[in-house]
Order: sequence, then C-alpha cells, then structure tokens
Amino acid sequence: MKTNFRNIIELVEFFNTEEICVKFLKSILWVDGAKCPHCGDGEIMEYKSDFKRNRCKSCKKDFSIKAGTIFENSNIPLKKWFMAMYIFNAHKKGISSVQLAKDISITQKSAWFILQRLRHASKNLFTTEFEGTTEIDEAYIGGSESNRHAKDKKLGEKPKTVVIGMVNRDTKQVRAVKVPTAEKDFLLPKINLNVKSGSTILTDTYHAYKDLSKKYNHQTIKHSAGEYVRNDARVSFKIHTNTVEGFWSLLKRGINGTYHWVSKKHINKYLTEYSMRYNSREMNDIERFKLFCNNTQGKLLYKDLIA
Ligand SMILES: [Zn+2]
Repeated sequence: MKTNFRNIIELVEFFNTEEICVKFLKSILWVDGAKCPHCGDGEIMEYKSDFKRNRCKSCKKDFSIKAGTIFENSNIPLKKWFMAMYIFNAHKKGISSVQLAKDISITQKSAWFILQRLRHASKNLFTTEFEGTTEIDEAYIGGSESNRHAKDKKLGEKPKTVVIGMVNRDTKQVRAVKVPTAEKDFLLPKINLNVKSGSTILTDTYHAYKDLSKKYNHQTIKHSAGEYVRNDARVSFKIHTNTVEGFWSLLKRGINGTYHWVSKKHINKYLTEYSMRYNSREMNDIERFKLFCNNTQGKLLYKDLIA
C-alpha cells in the first residue's frame, strides 16, 4: 500500500478512517498472505460488506487483522493507535501516559496500556548478538527517595534497580537489561548471552567483571584512579566506557524527567523503549514508525501487565 505521509499531520490525514488503517495493517502484516490464528492455514474469504471480518477457508472461523498483535482486544480506534505509535517513537525522552491521554483523547488507563504494549513490542527490534568491541557497565536506576511513595519506604524496598548495559562500538547499538544484583553470577550470564565469545570487552575495574578474560579480550579502565580514557599501544582503539555511560545519562534524564519514577517490575520495558530509540536514532520519525508497524505482532495482555 502506497503511503506518502512525511509528518504527523499527513499521517493523521492519511489514516482518516478505520478502513484505511485496516488496509494498511493488512499490507504490512499479511504481506505473505493471511494466516488464520485458529488453524494456521492461509486462505481467507473477505466479507465484501465488512472490512473488519475475515473467514478462514479451512476452518470457517472468523478472525480480525488484529489477532495476535498488540492491537488485539483493544477498543481504541487504529487511527489513535497509529498516532500513539508515532508520538511514542518521535519523542526523544518518551511520553507519559498522562500526556498521551491528553494528546489523543483517551483515558489515562488506556494510554498506559497502549504505552506498555508499545514498549513490549520494542523488545523484538535490534536483537542481533554483539561482536567486536563492546563497552559494558552497570547502573543503578531509581528516583530519589523524596519522589517515592511513603508506603514503599515503610516496606523497606531497596530504592535502586540494578541494570547492565552494553554498547557495541561497531554497530553503535545498545542493549540494557535488569539484573537482581550487581554480582558476577547475574552480570556475566547476560554478557555471555549478548556478546559473542572472543569479542573485545571494555569495562571499569569492578571486581564482578574479572572473569570476562576467560572468554573475551577484556580491557579495563580504572575509574577509581581518576582514569577515564586510556591509550594502549597494543590495541587500535581507545579504552573507555564513555559511550555506555552516555546512554545511562540519557536514560536517567528521560526516566526522571518524563516518568519521574519507574517500578522495578516494569523497568525492562523502559529499558527496551530507550534502547529502541537509541538504536534507531539515525532513522527519521516516519521510518521509525514504519519499522515499528512491521513489528506489532506479539500481544501483551492486560492481565499480564497488572499481574
Ligand atoms: Zn482457520
């Protein structure tokens, strides 16, 4: 389907009916033909009078284009979903559910749900294993004590969440995930999962990273000695972790400025949101919107969100 919108106003004008939105989704999600969510067969009979319904030729059951996507079981018109997707991708520091609710005229609860589903969908983008030179660092995320609810303080919940971040210098991609604590038993498996063995890894001299030299070319920088960039004649690159630390300041500014505080339970969704935006920073807003549209499979149910 030909689309020629270049900005949000043209996008809104383009998606002016639900029917156009459905047609657009079909052109993207059913590019290799429809797939029945009931029996897995592909051939469908479309209703001439009802663009929303499709009947499977094999099992004769009806299904919608939204089945199995982030739009499933949502009464919000697709036009609003698409606007939310555009806004979510275009705002460099993210958008709060309060603001999104106002912008597209839905309830805050619906806005929160849409945003969580969009964060969930971000997870499937940019997942290639890292190889080459990778900077790694851990960070402690959490609002200041004064921003937090009195009830959490009473419960004695630890205010900070530990996250590990990796930035590959060759692809300029970031990946960040939550870990229970900053012990090597939690940090090293995340690194092994995401960075190909034999790669070069740069960290500070934190003791938990010591064993990295068994599988990787591990180079360290001694922050405690006031060392931030080291040149080593034996290697062709500068030894530092400034790129991954740059990502941490971006993330912290975003979380503090836009969301004020993010619960431990949901932190991974915010990490994927920020990583996705960082990893697609060379795309324009429309390119990022389209990339996202291709990736709307994989729903997240409300009951799973609040569980
Ligand atoms: Zn079927």
